[in-house]
Amino acid sequence: MKKTSLAQGSRYYPKRYDFSIEKRNAILDEGLICHVGFVRDSNPVVIPIAYCRIDDTIYLHGSVGSHFFMDMAKGIRLCITVTHLDALIMARSIMNHSMNYRSTVLFGTSRLVTDEKELQDATQAFVDHVIPGRWEDARQPTPKEMQKTTFIAVTIDEWSVKCREHGVGDDEGDLDLPVWAGILPVGLTWQEPVTDHGGSREVEVPDYVLNYRR
Ligand SMILES: Cc1cc2nc3c(=O)[nH]c(=O)nc-3n(C[C@H](O)[C@H](O)[C@H](O)COP(=O)(O)OP(=O)(O)OC[C@H]3O[C@@H](n4cnc5c(N)ncnc54)[C@H](O)[C@@H]3O)c2cc1C
Repeated sequence: MKKTSLAQGSRYYPKRYDFSIEKRNAILDEGLICHVGFVRDSNPVVIPIAYCRIDDTIYLHGSVGSHFFMDMAKGIRLCITVTHLDALIMARSIMNHSMNYRSTVLFGTSRLVTDEKELQDATQAFVDHVIPGRWEDARQPTPKEMQKTTFIAVTIDEWSVKCREHGVGDDEGDLDLPVWAGILPVGLTWQEPVTDHGGSREVEVPDYVLNYRR
């Protein structure tokens, strides 16, 4: 996939840009939430939403009554971002504080998914992406539920990745200041599952929930 005008990467910190598909897909496959930017009535709008990826296509799903999905069903240009914050960088000087992150910015045109097989594949890919193992366990969607759901496909035609993955960058003259400097790493952790007792059955917490990691 060639990089073109929008996703060139800036001249500012060019080393932080990476255009490898592997890096892009690793960021996308670890994430759960993206931000979708589009223009509505000449105004920029950005909506947070869950997503999944199959090859170079991002899938979004929502209600048939959603204004956002009705807009996307017309086939509009979208900008989609996914970001992972990995650490706070604490330098000895205020202006050298920073963050370690991995982010990707994608561009593409939305397309309403109508093909039965693609709808099925996208629905399963969504579940497998968010909760691997759940597809085999939970009740399958009914035709009525599928009819009430819109799936949008966005094939990525331009994209960039930007990462900061290094330590403190202090100026030489500040290194001996009596100020603690270092990295404060951050990661998504999953807590103890809480069972819903809505039904009469007692069902064990499945391993894919107990061992859930991203
Ligand atoms: C973590 C997360 C995951 C989500 N996953 C899904 C999903 O898989 N499918 C889905 O359909 N929706 C999802 N949503 C909800 C999504 O953000 C939108 O609210 C919804 O898709 C838009 O519906 P709409 O057509 O009513 O919005 P629109 O009518 O297009 O929105 C109108 C206005 O409502 C406001 N608005 C809309 N959404 C939000 C928001 N989330 N926060 C604050 N203001 C808002 C904005 O000002 C917007 O201009 C998710 C939200 C979050 C935070």
